[in-house]
Amino acid sequence: MRRATPVSSVVREVFRMVNATMAQIGGQPVLILPEGALRTTGKDAQRNNIAAAKAVGDAIRTTLGPRGMDKMLVDSLGDVVISNDGATILSEMEIEHPAAKMMVEISKTQDEEVGDGTTTVVVLAGTMLKKAEELLDQEVHPTVITKGYRVAKEKALEVVKSVSKSISVNDEDKLVRIAITAMSSKAVGENPEKLARVVVQAVKEISETTDGKTVIDVENVKLEKRRGGGIIDTELIKGIAIDKEIVHPSMPKKAENAKIALLDAALEVKELETDAEIRITSPEQMQSFLAEEERMLKDMVEKIAATGANVVFSQKGIDDAAQHYMAKKGILAARRVKKSDMDKLARATGAKVTSSINDLSSADLGFAGLVEEKKVSGEQMVFVQKCKDPKAVTILIRGGSEHIVDEVERAVNDAIKSAAAAIEMGKYVAGGGAPEAEIARVLRKFAESFPGREQLAINAFADAMEVIPKTLAENAGLDTIDMLVKLRAEHDAGNVNAGVDVLNGRISDMEKLNVIDPLKTKIQAISSASEAAEMILRIDDVISASKLNKGGGMPPGGMPDMSGGEM
Ligand code: ADP
Ligand code: MG
Repeated sequence: MRRATPVSSVVREVFRMVNATMAQIGGQPVLILPEGALRTTGKDAQRNNIAAAKAVGDAIRTTLGPRGMDKMLVDSLGDVVISNDGATILSEMEIEHPAAKMMVEISKTQDEEVGDGTTTVVVLAGTMLKKAEELLDQEVHPTVITKGYRVAKEKALEVVKSVSKSISVNDEDKLVRIAITAMSSKAVGENPEKLARVVVQAVKEISETTDGKTVIDVENVKLEKRRGGGIIDTELIKGIAIDKEIVHPSMPKKAENAKIALLDAALEVKELETDAEIRITSPEQMQSFLAEEERMLKDMVEKIAATGANVVFSQKGIDDAAQHYMAKKGILAARRVKKSDMDKLARATGAKVTSSINDLSSADLGFAGLVEEKKVSGEQMVFVQKCKDPKAVTILIRGGSEHIVDEVERAVNDAIKSAAAAIEMGKYVAGGGAPEAEIARVLRKFAESFPGREQLAINAFADAMEVIPKTLAENAGLDTIDMLVKLRAEHDAGNVNAGVDVLNGRISDMEKLNVIDPLKTKIQAISSASEAAEMILRIDDVISASKLNKGGGMPPGGMPDMSGGEM
């Protein structure tokens, strides 16, 4: 592996830096950096950062697209993650180089903002930097490159928007296609359509439209995973599935037309908080003391029962005696339910979480057509389902192994967010690198109206966009040059939706093939990739404080090993 910053040059650099930072005041040197701080400037700093960012892009390139490969990551404890998800892979990689970390950062932002496109954004940013480096080699100044990139980015966004088409929450089939495209690179089995329908159904269920504007809070789709069965058994629960069991064996296991009380109050007799002491001098006193406690618990249960509730979920504890009385009243209960589940139960059933049993009234109760305890893969769960117009739902993910359900969860997550992004922005574009190819075509024309060096930068940006169709083809084992030539020809002929049909190994109209992505995913990826590339290009000085506990600290700019390897 080549070391971009050999130790000797680091040492030289330190000396240079020390000299440079010693301003002279009346013959007295002034030190401006603390002892142990390291600094790289100019080309070295730039090259080092670019190399690191490129390395990250190269590391996950092979996972792009439906024919992309997976990565197996083993952490220091031996835990294994197998994934194709850019954000997941990068967060597991424990990257340290500051510029490389920016790549991780944009992939995380992409994940948070739109869910999908986490590989795309990093591959794009890495390639933009690679193309910029070629210009730096031709003595084009970084400021000219960043200026060209900024202009190119604005134009690129204009182009994707212009090729996008409208979609709404009611276009179920199109949403299913978007979900399938989002999941296509992950191992979700032979029938992604069924899974995609579950996803779209869930998203539709929780979407809220006011004044023609649909908003979706993806937090309201709860993902529960259970190993066992097959991916095909993944199902939508119109309500909430909770990882709990019914507290008492003589309680009913099932309640139809359930009236549900949600309590943030303990069904227990409070321990005294002060150091009070009760002296009991006779067995009768003891008896009446216990009887009094039981009476209080019974009272609580009576109050709950009086509201008409036949199901109780408590965020706190439920005393044994209280359980017994509830069982006698035919009430089904679960205790120590997570706060997040309580909130979702409230949204699904329409109940109000109450923190005082005295204040509980029938108006606070929620409704579910069916509440029942069921065994899933050997573990009990309580299903609160058949809710009326639930505002929170659950997808119960199934699959043959832990690794499979984990990856299916990531796929479902991408699909949910993609469907939501498509509905919220109301636009989609063709996939398979079609919009990227169109951007490249338009940019090359657009560049002609700029003076020499800026033109080079805009063309470099155009080349960088083509990395997406090129990588999709490459990962599918296709001849990339052949594919790019055909792709450009199609776009020149006006076929804006022409892309790499990786499953059939040819250039096709991706929209006709129903391979479509949300516009929001593309906009976010293009903007963050170019912003990150720009930011890295503008750095010409890296000053690193000495690392604590790390013998000697890192060379300036970070880990030298990151910059070697695949480039
Ligand atoms: P990311 O993490 O960036 O979403 P993926 O591995 O999911 O990366 O790949 C996404 C890319 O794969 C998108 O450009 C998408 O349009 C493309 N894609 C998905 N399905 C197909 C397909 N059947 N044919 C061609 N391209 C596809
Ligand atoms: Mg994806």
